[in-house]
Amino acid sequence: MTVALIVAAGRGERFGADTPKALIALAGRPLLQWSVDALRAVASIERIVVALPPGVAAPAGTIGVPGGAVRSESVRLALAAAGEGDPVLVHDAARPLLTPALAQQVIEVARAEGVDAAIAAAPVTDTIKRGVEGGEKGEDEGGGARRVFVAETLDRGALWAVQTPQVFRRATLERALDVPREVLAQATDDAWLVERLGGRVALVEAPRDNLKITTPLDLALAELLVDGNPA
Ligand code: C5P
Repeated sequence: MTVALIVAAGRGERFGADTPKALIALAGRPLLQWSVDALRAVASIERIVVALPPGVAAPAGTIGVPGGAVRSESVRLALAAAGEGDPVLVHDAARPLLTPALAQQVIEVARAEGVDAAIAAAPVTDTIKRGVEGGEKGEDEGGGARRVFVAETLDRGALWAVQTPQVFRRATLERALDVPREVLAQATDDAWLVERLGGRVALVEAPRDNLKITTPLDLALAELLVDGNPA
């Protein structure tokens, strides 16, 4: 059976609200509750552990643990409190529009032969360029500031915007998280920790609707997406 970890302990600084981001309401329900409700509807998930910000209670039917200083530390703390269960699904509370069907699909791919982890991701639609700093701007343009130039244009056809859920064989995730704090602090997702050990990470195509709430604009978009369908 699968165990699910939801990381909700971020301060949400980029959102700019006074309350922790996990408690911000989307169509009247806290962001964290959306993910809990979606994962509780997945039959193969037997337990949900949530890494929480200080002073926030665990939602009904979940086990709460205090989060860590960085995201992957919150994952490690939640996994330590998870009891038995394999594979392990990791999900960001900042993605409330996760569907049970997507979670189930990622779990199934992670269980396949020759796969160490499976991650939800959407093909990139923007053209992505890598920038490098070079030279000072001229004085007439506000002097002193650095100008950024294009170093290369990446092949969009091969690029994926990575989301959660991410599902791991338990032994793989435990090994990947067993690294110094500095390494955990560099990880913007857990799959990277598996990649750096040479693990095989499968991409599962997911809808862009499974968006991440970072700014009030993202919340406004999510409100539009759930309008009339607040399930
Ligand atoms: O900061 P970032 O946008 O990468 O956060 C992604 C998710 O990780 C959010 O759901 C946030 O609550 C969670 N997080 C956490 N512990 C931290 C930092 C972030 O649980 N120390």
